[in-house]
Amino acid sequence: MLEKVVIANRGEIALRILRACKELGIRTVAVYSKADRDLMHVRLADEAVCIGPAPSSESYLNIPAIISAAEVTDADGIHPGYGFLAENADFAESVERSGFTFIGPKADTIRLMGNKVAAIDAMKEAGVPTVPGSNGPIGDDSDAALAMAREIGYPVIIKAAAGGGGRGMRVVEEEKLLLNAITLTRSEAKNAFGDPTVYMEKFLQKPRHVEVQVLADGAGHAIHLGDRDCSLQRRHQKVVEEAPAPHIPQHLKEEVAQRCVDACKTINYRGAGTFEFLYEDERFYFIEMNTRVQVEHPVTEMITGVDIVKEQLRIAGGEGLQLQQDDIQFQGHAIEVRVNAEDPVRFTPCPGKISYFHAPGGNGVRVDSHVYSGYTVPPFYDSLIGKLITWGENRDIAFARMRNALDEIVVEGIKTNVDLHREKIFKDKAFIEGGVDIHHLEKKLGSN
Ligand code: ADP
Repeated sequence: MLEKVVIANRGEIALRILRACKELGIRTVAVYSKADRDLMHVRLADEAVCIGPAPSSESYLNIPAIISAAEVTDADGIHPGYGFLAENADFAESVERSGFTFIGPKADTIRLMGNKVAAIDAMKEAGVPTVPGSNGPIGDDSDAALAMAREIGYPVIIKAAAGGGGRGMRVVEEEKLLLNAITLTRSEAKNAFGDPTVYMEKFLQKPRHVEVQVLADGAGHAIHLGDRDCSLQRRHQKVVEEAPAPHIPQHLKEEVAQRCVDACKTINYRGAGTFEFLYEDERFYFIEMNTRVQVEHPVTEMITGVDIVKEQLRIAGGEGLQLQQDDIQFQGHAIEVRVNAEDPVRFTPCPGKISYFHAPGGNGVRVDSHVYSGYTVPPFYDSLIGKLITWGENRDIAFARMRNALDEIVVEGIKTNVDLHREKIFKDKAFIEGGVDIHHLEKKLGSN
């Protein structure tokens, strides 16, 4: 088992990791930037090391500083959380090369999944359904590209193999725009990601975002923890997530989850991971794999009772994955809303001092948040200040509890999106009904 872990992150996920470590009797090292001295987990950790100034490029993305912190504190593992260095294969490699355990997959796996063309190839080989497309990079032959798009059928989407964060993609509606779009996306990809490789996919018009959570031990044993629906998005950022995904036939879910488990075995996946799919007309289409814990992992924990972060720590510590698929019992429904420090109308970040904070409570309510009355949200990082998660025996009860939680939460001093959740999203008929597509929220916001 690991004895001392460096938490290479900040905010709510750092606190989440700290809690899991404490439950397992693992000592903790918080690393923080100069802007983050007042973070909750910095106070609660056994040790804390300042790793640099406020900008994340000089602190949370500073690989030598983080590894030095592990060295001076004599830690044995490093947990990257999500964001920052969590999917940086070079970081994972440096961590292991310096003699520490990286709490995540092997560097090679991260590298494989970071290249979407390679990832899609690997998934196809493992039997995971993918979006009809170019089956690899688009070459220099214009006629071949035109023929390919004609065969796939318009609209198509041109995507950068090295893309991420919703960048490096272009939808093409008709043939005469195709070649220009490929050229543009290529040069953007080269500038933004240092790799001009692009590929083509059919552009799905009204898909939902449905993903499958997996756990694997890196030695051929893998299980899934069911699915989540994260279709409520704005600018490719998830706003609300729920588990299980509503109104999808059970046999389709089981089939796709099994394919994900098979893929984990094929690539000897290690740790927690998520297979992201678009879902349309009763079909799943793989788009990418996230090789880390995700923001929305709590909804899965609420319906399975499995602590995903503790499992990550156990797997990394060498205990393996003790859970078998049959141990996983799915119970009820869970929903999560992201509470952001942002202007509710313009969606711009609103950092500042929280003069008063009151967390909701009650049966089936979970609050994952690092903020407290008097805490100042710094302007340097993302605007997530917490997550409200509710569970119920069924979806209606989970929703009712979320409405209560949204009524109870008080955040004073800064602007947040709580009203957006309370007044718009949780009163939206189609969302309450379940199964809206990924454009639903933006359409709704646009029409208001
Ligand atoms: P990133 O790694 O940048 O997040 P993804 O491949 O996961 O890129 O795609 C991000 C988002 O772009 C998806 O969630 C979806 O909204 C949209 N998208 C990507 N591929 C397609 C497609 N083939 N058809 C329709 N929408 C797509």
